[in-house]
Amino acid sequence: MPLETDTVTALVRDVADFPQQGVVFKDITPLLADDRAFAACVATLADAFEDAGVDKVLGIEARGFIVAAPVALRVGAGFVPVRKAGKLPWKVERETYTLEYGSDALEIHADALAVGERVLVIDDVLATGGTASAVTRLAGRLGAEVVGFGCILELGFLGGRARLGAVPAVSLVSYP
Ligand code: AMP
Repeated sequence: MPLETDTVTALVRDVADFPQQGVVFKDITPLLADDRAFAACVATLADAFEDAGVDKVLGIEARGFIVAAPVALRVGAGFVPVRKAGKLPWKVERETYTLEYGSDALEIHADALAVGERVLVIDDVLATGGTASAVTRLAGRLGAEVVGFGCILELGFLGGRARLGAVPAVSLVSYP
């Protein structure tokens, strides 16, 4: 089923002042609850990278997991979680990053990627790009190559895409 931009935007709920004053939070739970729309989002992202030779799909905690895991299965790649600090049980690499609303740290298992592996990074929303660029640095530290970034929504007015450099980025809906 082809993905209609209007279908996605109609199923995303804007929540004002969450998690803090001045932020309009893009709530994708109505989209996830619609099986056909969710499936179409996953298919569209996977199709965009089907020829990229992806070895691993990295999902970013927590909403990124929901989208990344089915994309990984569809492109025939393994799934690797990137988590908030202190959640992963094994040896980790850590990167700090800034959000639209604060700063945090992300971790990946130190043995999650092999040198030379081709990685697709998936999240729900691209905002300032701080998260995506931190994950790109994490993958690079393990010797892997980020060959793509995919997300459902892009807050274009925050300029996150520029922080991804030459990495091809696909968003299903962009708010200019
Ligand atoms: P950024 O690092 O600024 O690109 O922020 C992207 C990350 O923060 C993603 O993991 C999103 O889930 C989350 N995020 C940032 N801004 C929003 C927003 N307005 N609505 C929903 N999630 C957001």
